[in-house]
Amino acid sequence: MNRLIYADNAATTKMSQAAYEAMMRFQLIDFANASQPYSFARNAKNALKEARETIARCINASPNEIFFTSCGTESDNWVIKGCKCCKIYTSLIEHHAILNACIEVALDGTEVNYMPVNHTGIVEPQVLDGVLTENSLVSIMMANNEIGTILPIKQLAKIAHSHHSLFHTDAVQAVGHIPVNVRELDVDFLSASAHKFNGPKGIGFLYIKDGIKINPLISGGTQENSLRAGTENVASIVAMAIALEENTSRLEENMKYIQGLEDALIHQLLSLNIKFHKNGAEVKIPGNISLSFNGYSGESLLHRLDLLGICVSTGAACDSKNIRISHVLKAIGVDEPLAKGTIRISLGKENTQEDVNRIVEALARIVK
Ligand code: PLP
Repeated sequence: MNRLIYADNAATTKMSQAAYEAMMRFQLIDFANASQPYSFARNAKNALKEARETIARCINASPNEIFFTSCGTESDNWVIKGCKCCKIYTSLIEHHAILNACIEVALDGTEVNYMPVNHTGIVEPQVLDGVLTENSLVSIMMANNEIGTILPIKQLAKIAHSHHSLFHTDAVQAVGHIPVNVRELDVDFLSASAHKFNGPKGIGFLYIKDGIKINPLISGGTQENSLRAGTENVASIVAMAIALEENTSRLEENMKYIQGLEDALIHQLLSLNIKFHKNGAEVKIPGNISLSFNGYSGESLLHRLDLLGICVSTGAACDSKNIRISHVLKAIGVDEPLAKGTIRISLGKENTQEDVNRIVEALARIVK
């Protein structure tokens, strides 16, 4: 069998070697509970402090604005459930971490409004401006996981603030992949997850702007300024900081490299006369490629690529009777036959031109 080609980097990424090695140290050697007062805990405590400073620097925040969580899903849930606003404005293309948290708060009486998106997946700022009421929470993602579209967060946050409302962005697909500067964006909350930027699974963070109030989601000890209880996962936090710093320091280079691979893939498909539709906006996360093939089933494309040693995702999933089309493809108005035949190829910095050639060859074999 051919070498495995991993082209599902929007689902998760391979961990950085340096992050992995640091993680081992804090599991096997400096394994103390960072909250303990004895000297053996000093290395863990210092590492925690340094990791918080590093992460803050990568997104231009202050260290006291970074709160460690267990994942992007927890960060998202914390904002939706912890803000206690009577009204929430979110979008139709959010990740289920937001959508399902919104369903829960709606059961408790919160009014949830779902903003439409245009055919490229953008919430038009003027549409939000036209409906938003005061003292609400707006939660709109920075980059969509299925189609890669980057949303105009700076303008949307400005509109939220002009209506005396709070603004959260789920930046799980953005952090470590495109420049993210919380001061420039002027957001109140921002969610991130380490495993999307070559850090470990099961660790993430929430940026909370200094002075913004939120209730804890998890109660217990006094960790994270009494806002997120639970013994700190020092090993994973340290590894997350290393991975983020590595990616942030090579951001332009990585973006250019991955965009080059994406351009080559599209060019090769076109030159082979393969018919496809590319979903999403022009301004998007490099390497996140949503392709629809009319008359095909995304699920069977995924399995046939799998047989050829290639991992991708699909935009539609079959249960025993029906094909469920993704809410994102529905929201951007992709016709059903196209939506059914959608796959997401998400290239990362580990992919090569040879990987692209093999993906194209495989697609040509399957769809021609
Ligand atoms: N938000 C977005 C946009 C995502 O893509 C994901 C994961 O795919 C999440 C949230 C959830 O992150 P995690 O897997 O860390 O819980």
